[in-house]
Amino acid sequence: MLDKPLGFSTRAIHIGQDPDPSTGATVPPITLSSTFTQASPGEHKGFAYARSNNPTRKNLELCLAAIEKGATAAAFASGLAGTHAICAALLRPGDSIVAYSDLYGGTYRIFERVFRPWGLDIRYCDDKTPAAFAKLTDQTTRLLWLETPTNPLLHLLDIRAIVGAVRGKGSWPQPLNPAECAGGGRGPVVVVDNTFASPALQNPIALGADLVLHSTTKYLGGHSDVIGGAVIAADAKVMEPIRFVQNAAGGVPSPFDCYLTHRGIKTLAVRMKQHCENAAKIANWAREQRGFEKVYYPGLPDHPDHALAKSQMAGFGGMVTCVLRGGFPAAKAFMSSTKLFACAESLGGVESLVNHPAIMTHASMPREVRERIGVVDGLIRLSVGIEEVDDLIADLQAALAAAAK
Ligand SMILES: *Cc1c(COP(=O)(O)O)cnc(C)c1O
Repeated sequence: MLDKPLGFSTRAIHIGQDPDPSTGATVPPITLSSTFTQASPGEHKGFAYARSNNPTRKNLELCLAAIEKGATAAAFASGLAGTHAICAALLRPGDSIVAYSDLYGGTYRIFERVFRPWGLDIRYCDDKTPAAFAKLTDQTTRLLWLETPTNPLLHLLDIRAIVGAVRGKGSWPQPLNPAECAGGGRGPVVVVDNTFASPALQNPIALGADLVLHSTTKYLGGHSDVIGGAVIAADAKVMEPIRFVQNAAGGVPSPFDCYLTHRGIKTLAVRMKQHCENAAKIANWAREQRGFEKVYYPGLPDHPDHALAKSQMAGFGGMVTCVLRGGFPAAKAFMSSTKLFACAESLGGVESLVNHPAIMTHASMPREVRERIGVVDGLIRLSVGIEEVDDLIADLQAALAAAAK
């Protein structure tokens, strides 16, 4: 486009948004058609049937690849539809996945309830050191699954160091030909779920990952009005079987959902900047309050992963996790009295949300396990929105007073 590499927001706004050639519409129209007229059998313009491909989805995919620094991207009906396609495409019964134990609950559920019965072994690593991941990786390991920062405790994993430790230890997935893949296909394939950071703050492919997964439902869509997912690949060859499974199984997003997600991405960088600024102010305020026993935020200098956050991420994110004094009764009173922070699942929208992981997102986890990893009854997770931060702090202050009673 220019004779220099484009910056993040320029890519987010311009890639996949060429004006419509037939009308000049600056914002390309949403193509709803399920089918495409062919000049003669098999002679078409790259689109035949909308499960396989659709112009609105294609535009979103071009943009997703550009903002994650990947070779290619596939947009999905949800984040978990993307996770499903990665596993079904790349793994076969007898293979193993090595994953960090602090995973999104839905990822844990699909691993345990769908893919374990299907014949995969999933090995969870409790220890964040690269050596611990390498130790669990053997010849059966064809996928390494990382999520950073983690939910809800906001631990960080050192992507570059962990990739370095497992390269050459596992095996490349059987459906892929190593000779055709970058790096000679040294396994396992490394997937990073980048939902919490968003591509505005972290690009796992630049740190050595093979695939990035997003729940675009969160920061990319950004307005809590669309469910979607994305897989971005460093090497187009790795995406081929994933696209095949997507077309075969049908986990595709609607054209309107693609449009909404693409529209959200255009403002991702400015939103993220405000999410980070508001979250930092709230984290610094929260740790001065007697009502909070603990505050987790990677931007706080005493966060155990603060130095890694500074080197791996371009900002500390919009999530803040706190432990209230007074356990569950305090958390319940707090969450019932906030006026701006809505008590709701999900994250990453312009509006602030508060979640109680022990009851909401981590309910399926046995209490001992939950408490061992730090998800105690007084723990609340804030998805800090981009409202005026003084209003957000006033809302939290009033809720703290209610919780103290
Ligand atoms: C929400 C979420 C998912 C799942 O995405 P859906 O769009 O809900 O299917 C995966 N990973 C993380 C970290 C999430 O927050």
